[in-house]
Amino acid sequence: MTPTPERSDFIRDIVAADLREGRIDTVVTRFPPEPNGYLHIGHAKSICLNFGIATEFGGRCHLRFDDTNPVKEEQEYLDSIMADVRWLGFDWGEHLYHASDYFEQLYEWAVHLIEAGKAYVDDLSAEEIREHRGTLTEPGTPSPWRDRSVEENLDLFARMRAGEFPNGSRVLRAKIDMASPNINFRDPVMYRILHADHPRTGDAWCIYPSYDFAHGQSDAIEGITHSICTLEFQDHRPLYDWFIANLPVPSQPHQYEFARLNLTHTVLSKRVLLKLVKEGFVRGWDDPRMPTLSGIRRRGFPAEGLRDFAAMIGVARADSVVEIEMLEHAVRDVLNRTTLRRMAVLDPIKLVIENYPEGVTEELEVPNSPEDPDAGSRMVPFSRDLWIERDDFMEDPPKKFFRLAPGREVRLRSAYFVTCTDVIKDAEGRVVELRCTYDPESRGGSAPDGRKVKATLHWVSAAHAVDAEVRLYDHLFADPFPGSDGRDLLDDLNPDSEVILQGAKLEPALADTPAGETVQFERLGYFCPDPDSTPTAPVFNRTLTLKDTWARLQAKGA
Ligand code: ATP
Ligand code: MG
Repeated sequence: MTPTPERSDFIRDIVAADLREGRIDTVVTRFPPEPNGYLHIGHAKSICLNFGIATEFGGRCHLRFDDTNPVKEEQEYLDSIMADVRWLGFDWGEHLYHASDYFEQLYEWAVHLIEAGKAYVDDLSAEEIREHRGTLTEPGTPSPWRDRSVEENLDLFARMRAGEFPNGSRVLRAKIDMASPNINFRDPVMYRILHADHPRTGDAWCIYPSYDFAHGQSDAIEGITHSICTLEFQDHRPLYDWFIANLPVPSQPHQYEFARLNLTHTVLSKRVLLKLVKEGFVRGWDDPRMPTLSGIRRRGFPAEGLRDFAAMIGVARADSVVEIEMLEHAVRDVLNRTTLRRMAVLDPIKLVIENYPEGVTEELEVPNSPEDPDAGSRMVPFSRDLWIERDDFMEDPPKKFFRLAPGREVRLRSAYFVTCTDVIKDAEGRVVELRCTYDPESRGGSAPDGRKVKATLHWVSAAHAVDAEVRLYDHLFADPFPGSDGRDLLDDLNPDSEVILQGAKLEPALADTPAGETVQFERLGYFCPDPDSTPTAPVFNRTLTLKDTWARLQAKGA
C-alpha cells in the first residue's frame, strides 16, 4: 500500500501515482547543491521537499554535491552545507555523493556519444559559440568544426583530457540541432578545458563536465526516480531526457520542476550573498541578517520554524514572492510555544525603593512561562536598587500611558507593587533615577486588599545584573523588492538592519543560556546568545520582536 504523505502537492501526487501504479518500487530523490556558497532559505524549501518526500513515502534522499566547477568550490562550503542540512533535521545516511565521483564514467559516456557521431570537439571560442547560437527567433549557425570525423574527435577529446590544450581553446559539444526552437538543444557544451585543481580530484582532471551533461547522468547512476529542481531548468528537461535516451545509463530518472522561493526584503542568490560577505556589508555568511541557514540559526530561528514555513508555502509551479512576515510568523509560532521567559532591560534607568532595607537580597520565584506551568520557575534576586526600562516611565504621561509616572503605582513582575515618589535629574534635565516606595504586603505581585494596577513592568536587580551587548536586527534590505526598478541592490540595504546596544542589564540566569537556545525577554521579544559572547561579556541577538505583523497583513488582505 502507498504510504500517505503529510501533505499533498503536484509533486507528491506524481510520486504517489508512480508508486501506486507500479512504475517505481521505491522513491529516490536527491538534494544537489553546488558547493560554491552557503545554503539559504530557498535551499531549505528544496531540502524539505526532497527529504520530506523520501521520508513520507518510505524512500531515500541523497545528498549530492554538484562539484563540477572547481574554480568556485571550497571545502568550507561542503562542510557548511552538511552541517546545515543536518541542522534542518534531515539525514542522508550513507547516501553522500559527489558528481566528481562520476567523472570517469561521464568521460566514458562522452566518448560513447562521440563514437555514435553525437558529439564533437569544437575549436570556436566561447564568444564565437555564443554568436553562432542564434536567438529565440533565429536559428543558430553550425560550427565549421561540426562535421569532424569520429576518429579526429576521439583523438582531440583524449588530448583535451591529457592537458595538451589551454583553457578555453576547445570544448566538447553534443551534436543535436542548431535550428531547434529550444536553445538548449543547439549543440550544448558537454566539456570545457579548465586547468584547475579540484577539492576532491586534485589535478586528475583538466576537463570538467557541464551541469547539463553531469546532472541527469549522476541521477541515473544513483537510481534517482524523481529529479526535482526549480523552474529555470524546465527548458533543460528535453536535453536531460536526450542524454538519458542516448546513453547506456543504468536507470531512467525524470525531472520535475517547481517554483523557487522568493522572499520580500531578501535576496536569494549565492552570488549576491557572496558579494555582501566579500565586501564587508555583513559579519560573514552567518551574519544574523543573512538569509543563509547559518545566519538564520545564529539569529535564533529554530529549524522547526523553517520546516513549518516550508509546509505553509507548499510547492507549486507558478513563481511568486512570499512575504518575509510569513516566515517570521512561522518562527514566532514555535518560539511562543517553546521559549522560556527571562527579564532583561535594554535601555536601563535606575529605580530605588526608599523603604526597602539596604543590603538585603530576596530570592523571588518567577514562572518560566506564564502560560505553561510545566515550564517551572526560577529564583530571581530582588533588592533595593533595580533597573527598569527607560520608556516604562514618563514624567508627564499622556492619557493612554499606564506605566510608571510620578505618584502612580505599578506592579514589578512577580515582585511587589511600587509607587513613584520622586524623579531625579542631571544638570541637563534628563531623568537619571526614580525614587519609589513599595508595599511589603504585595510580595509576589498582588495586593492583599485586592487593589489593581494597570501595568506590570520587568526589572533586574542592579547589584545582580549582568551587563550585555544586545544586537537588534531588522530586515537586511529596506525595500521589499531589493534592486527593483533598476536600482542598485546595495542602495536598498537597510542602514538600521543592525543596531547595537551596550550596557543592557540581564537577570543572572541569562548568563547561562546555552548556545543555540532562544529565550523570550519579557515584553521585548525573542533573543539568543551570539557566538561572539565571552563568559564575562555576553552578547545577545534579537531574533524577532513579539509583534506578529503577518496576522495584520492577512487581516488587511482579507
Ligand atoms: P543560487 O541561485 O542561490 O546560486 P543555485 O540554484 O545555483 O542557487 P544550487 O546549489 O545549484 O544553487 O541549488 C541546489 C538546489 O536548491 C537546486 O535543486 C535548486 O533548484 C534549489 N534551489 C536553489 N535556490 C532555490 C530557491 N530560491 N527556492 C527553491 N529551491 C532552490
Ligand atoms: Mg546552481
